[in-house]
Amino acid sequence: MRYDTDILVVGGGINGAGIARDAAGRGLSVTLCEQDDLAAHTSSASTKLIHGGLRYLEQYEFRLVAKALAEREVILRLAPHITWPLLFVLPHESHLRPAWMIRLGLLLYDSLGAGHRSLADSHAVDLQQHVSGEPLKDTYSRGFVYSDGWVQDARLVVLNAMDAARRGADIRVQVRCVEAHVEAGAWLAQLQGLDGRQQTLRARTLVNACGPWAGSFLADVLGRRERRKVRLVKGSHIVLPRLFDHDYAYIFQQPDRRIVFAIPYETAYTLIGTTDVDYDADPASVHIEADERQYLCDAVSRYFRVPVRVEDVVWSYSGVRPLLDEDGDASAVSRDYHVELDTAQGALLLNVFGGKITTYRRLGEEAVDQLTAALGADRPAWTEHGDPLPGGDFADAERVVAAWSQRWPWLPVALAHRWLRHYGTCAAILLGDAACLDDLGQHFGAQLYQREVDYLVCHEWARTSEDILWRRTKLGLRTNDDERRRLQDYLDTAVPRLTGESPHQTARSPA
Ligand SMILES: Cc1cc2nc3c(=O)[nH]c(=O)nc-3n(C[C@H](O)[C@H](O)[C@H](O)COP(=O)(O)OP(=O)(O)OC[C@H]3O[C@@H](n4cnc5c(N)ncnc54)[C@H](O)[C@@H]3O)c2cc1C
Repeated sequence: MRYDTDILVVGGGINGAGIARDAAGRGLSVTLCEQDDLAAHTSSASTKLIHGGLRYLEQYEFRLVAKALAEREVILRLAPHITWPLLFVLPHESHLRPAWMIRLGLLLYDSLGAGHRSLADSHAVDLQQHVSGEPLKDTYSRGFVYSDGWVQDARLVVLNAMDAARRGADIRVQVRCVEAHVEAGAWLAQLQGLDGRQQTLRARTLVNACGPWAGSFLADVLGRRERRKVRLVKGSHIVLPRLFDHDYAYIFQQPDRRIVFAIPYETAYTLIGTTDVDYDADPASVHIEADERQYLCDAVSRYFRVPVRVEDVVWSYSGVRPLLDEDGDASAVSRDYHVELDTAQGALLLNVFGGKITTYRRLGEEAVDQLTAALGADRPAWTEHGDPLPGGDFADAERVVAAWSQRWPWLPVALAHRWLRHYGTCAAILLGDAACLDDLGQHFGAQLYQREVDYLVCHEWARTSEDILWRRTKLGLRTNDDERRRLQDYLDTAVPRLTGESPHQTARSPA
């Protein structure tokens, strides 16, 4: 039988993009469809940590923590441009958890990550002397420092999609899978673009990587009767002008036994999160509530000398965690994943439930292992030790920037550093034959020039100003309404010109 594609992946979050990359690298033909932008939903709304999850030790999730710590190391190697190590300070509060318990937890965390760890071990610090003690209230005298990793979550998704495409995958954004059924052993999927036009795709296997929509995809798109519920838990973050002058992040214990992070963000800001609230509305319309904003301000004001006020919040975002369906407190539900192969309809369906950004590569590998085994195709796993993600093929970041300043001496240093942290060595494609700053074209405010915008449209599937300002970059924090409007006006004509797509396909207005 002839198929249009071996695998149709529905969902362009981290799990869909990771599966597409892995499968394309094993020589399978792959189509991925995403109804909005890549990483438009949960995968751009995380705390952006590649971590084992210190707090999961209290829930005895040792297997998950060890798996995630091993992956932390792999991702730092795969994507050295968009990831970096981060040191966390945990101020000690004896009435919340005794010091011996924290020491033991950190020792366990260090040792579960041992064997594949390039990051520093944990240690105790005197907060009266240590730089991280400066913004804290005097009552905090003792603290503990440990390591984890940071990742630009939405960029991780895009780089996986880019690499999948380089290996032959067909990546389609703003395309929704509205119906799929099995006919003569193949999936016939209806894919619908923004203009309402539908195309039928004949796929050998179907992957449900719909994140918070994984349950409704089964019920509404595939028409399955049995209910597979994903537990949806909302988490919100707030962003404020920088609250402290050093590079350490904080992990603050709360009286409700939750923890809240305060993390240096985009140079001039501090990111604070998160909340855990059960959620049953449309995942696409998730937003922060006033009581969550207040909760987060109160949570960090418990520790900082200068109270953090709701009116100082400059930006917030919310996402929905698609967790395994378990009872109990929202913050205690397992963050592990479940990959399930289903043959009930006469053709292979693979469902993804739960997961973390940190474990996406392992999840992708397990998913494609299961698919290749079921298809009788012997294609070995490759992503753990394979090539880095696009732009990540360098060892020394400073040497890359030094080489650029030789070749493009007019390039502002701050811009070079931002591009290194976004595009790595792919920035050379973006710079191309530019011979002076004017050659970067129209300026849209902050550090955003036309060349970068065109690159994002041509190579990273950006279609709207929102895609560019809040996911491919975070320049939305530094641009005003007028600059954002000018960018959208430019995109309204540039996207059809650069991609050949008709204007009505690109008419999604920015939020
Ligand atoms: C507040 C918060 C903090 C977090 N912090 C961390 C962290 O620090 N570290 C960490 O490792 N993890 C973290 N996570 C978890 C992590 O973000 C998620 O596990 C992960 O992003 C889920 O990815 P996904 O691909 O499954 O879902 P998504 O990113 O939501 O992707 C699913 C995609 O499917 C698309 N889709 C759905 N239906 C269709 C259809 N019919 N047709 C086409 N497309 C469709 C959607 O548009 C969506 O883009 C956090 C999560 C939250 C909410």
